[in-house]
Amino acid sequence: MSKLPNVTTSIFTVMSKMAAEHNAINLSQGFPNFPVDERLTKIVSRLAHEDVHQYTPMSGYPPLLTKIATLVKSSYNRNIRPETEILVTAGATQAIFTSLLALLKPNDEAIILDPSYDSYEAPILLSHAKPIRVALNDDYTPHWENIEKAFSEKTRMIIINNPHNPTGKILNESDFEKLELLLEKYPNVLLLSDEVYEYITFEQKHISTHTRPKLLDRCIMVSSFGKSFHVTGWKIGYLVAPDYLMKEIKKVHQFLVFSVNSICQVAVSEYLDLVNINEISSLYQEKRDYFRTLLKNSRFELMPCEGTYFQVASYANISKENDVDFCKRLITEYGVAAIPISTFYADEKDLKLIRFCFAKDNQTLEEAAKRMCEI
Ligand code: PMP
Ligand code: GLN
Repeated sequence: MSKLPNVTTSIFTVMSKMAAEHNAINLSQGFPNFPVDERLTKIVSRLAHEDVHQYTPMSGYPPLLTKIATLVKSSYNRNIRPETEILVTAGATQAIFTSLLALLKPNDEAIILDPSYDSYEAPILLSHAKPIRVALNDDYTPHWENIEKAFSEKTRMIIINNPHNPTGKILNESDFEKLELLLEKYPNVLLLSDEVYEYITFEQKHISTHTRPKLLDRCIMVSSFGKSFHVTGWKIGYLVAPDYLMKEIKKVHQFLVFSVNSICQVAVSEYLDLVNINEISSLYQEKRDYFRTLLKNSRFELMPCEGTYFQVASYANISKENDVDFCKRLITEYGVAAIPISTFYADEKDLKLIRFCFAKDNQTLEEAAKRMCEI
């Protein structure tokens, strides 16, 4: 008997595989295809010959923990204790899984806002807790009244993802005020804040939970160096949580991975001294704008994109097919792979929306757009 009967292979795997089989341009799964900063690859090459190949301490390579604390201080003016409040993880995926498994008990309820990234549900179910899905508004802002209605005595956690995958929406001041008011009424509810795209926002500045004192004593903040440094395959990220939650999270972490890839930890730690993390947004803003300009004469309608490296587009002017079928045909007939947005919802949806990843070199974006303009 399956423990996760309704879980199937992730749409990111399915679409990337199909893209490879048909030699299509892969704008589906989110990963950059341009070269990694040479300063970072040089560090890794040098480290290969140094004594950095054995286990780091369980929470992370100590200098990296300190650098993360410095990064959080410089980005958000928050002081965190490296030894007790930071955990280096094998990507944000492991941070999310470990936190949910450590903190949810059987019959707890965890609120997820749809459309939502696919990593949240499985660890909730494996904890014998219950995911409660609440739809975002049509413009992808949270529907705070419906969220409040979904709260009960069983609610143990609410998960937010800001900036938001797949829609590129970011939360504003008023959203945070409403969230804080709501959580004040529910002192036992924890907040998991998936902020893996925290350094990829455009016109509007990212508001991190790090800057919200009312949330900090119950918040698990998750970030990913894979996104920030264009190295998704390294699977390295971290979480920040108050000591009393971190103690529980580490109990699971030590048996899930114990510690994370040492050479990547040392490399990221050294690189943090060299990189200007605020340049990441301008890099992706240029890419977003370029991709949108290239698609101006296509029949796709582009949705707003405030952050992340994803562009959502409507194909309602092009086809009446559902988004999964349309994505398949986009690959087989036009040689471009995208992600159907309906797969980010628990219930079946017919939205005619698909997601493109624009974290690509200009040549790739140009060729993909050329093909899309021919549709
Ligand atoms: N959360 C969101 C919203 C993501 O988009 C991703 C990766 N695409 C992750 C978590 C997982 O990040 P990582 O690759 O660091 O595990
Ligand atoms: N998060 C990436 C995306 O949204 C995919 C990561 C994965 O393949 N698991 O495309």
